[in-house]
Amino acid sequence: MSAAEPARILLLEDDPAIGGTVAFAFEREGWRVEQVLLVREAERSARAAPPSLAVLDVGLPDGNGLALCRQWRSDADVRLRTLPVLMLTAQGEEIDRVLGLEAGADDYLAKPFSPRELVARVRALLRRSAWSPPVADAPLIEVDAAGQRALLAGQPLDLTRLELKLLQALWRAGGRIKSRDALLAEVWGPDSEASDRTVDTHVKTLRAKLRERRPDLDPIVTHRGLGYALVLPGAGLSR
Ligand code: CA
Repeated sequence: MSAAEPARILLLEDDPAIGGTVAFAFEREGWRVEQVLLVREAERSARAAPPSLAVLDVGLPDGNGLALCRQWRSDADVRLRTLPVLMLTAQGEEIDRVLGLEAGADDYLAKPFSPRELVARVRALLRRSAWSPPVADAPLIEVDAAGQRALLAGQPLDLTRLELKLLQALWRAGGRIKSRDALLAEVWGPDSEASDRTVDTHVKTLRAKLRERRPDLDPIVTHRGLGYALVLPGAGLSR
């Protein structure tokens, strides 16, 4: 997000008083707000033009914000899968908080909340999120701290869960070779029945996805008989 391109926030809240207060607070930050009252409006809007972030109420006239969040998290569109979401939960509803995190929300805030607190949370999420134009000096590949997504030059990669874990394992090795056994243990787990072939297959699809975005790179190096390493241009061996 640059100064020329304000954040766009999708606000799904059916209570007019809360919605109005929140929209006002967001606009004062210079963010553009689209306020909708129905789940289906939020669904349609986010699909047509994914916002920088969505703030979702739980109880809506035509459905549930948690269900919408969960639906986005398994959507075919990576922009919806990785869309930062803050859930607004009912006061004292522990169940909402737990469900919110399980549904894949990035943060939650219980009602009643102060608009200032909400603005601070949203600002933090926007800073953390990858919804910024590619930055010239962004690391070529990075995996966020929670291991939830991988970025290529600052932009999210569309990876399966196993591809993401595999990339993370290689990335953490900081250019050192990881054997297939080490990758099996780290990515598939010590008790898995996956074989060396499984590793090779996933490396192949991961490579294809990286190549699709950056045909000029082939950062996963095969060391015959030893394993794989992720070698990034200009990167040292330590991390
Ligand atoms: Ca409501």
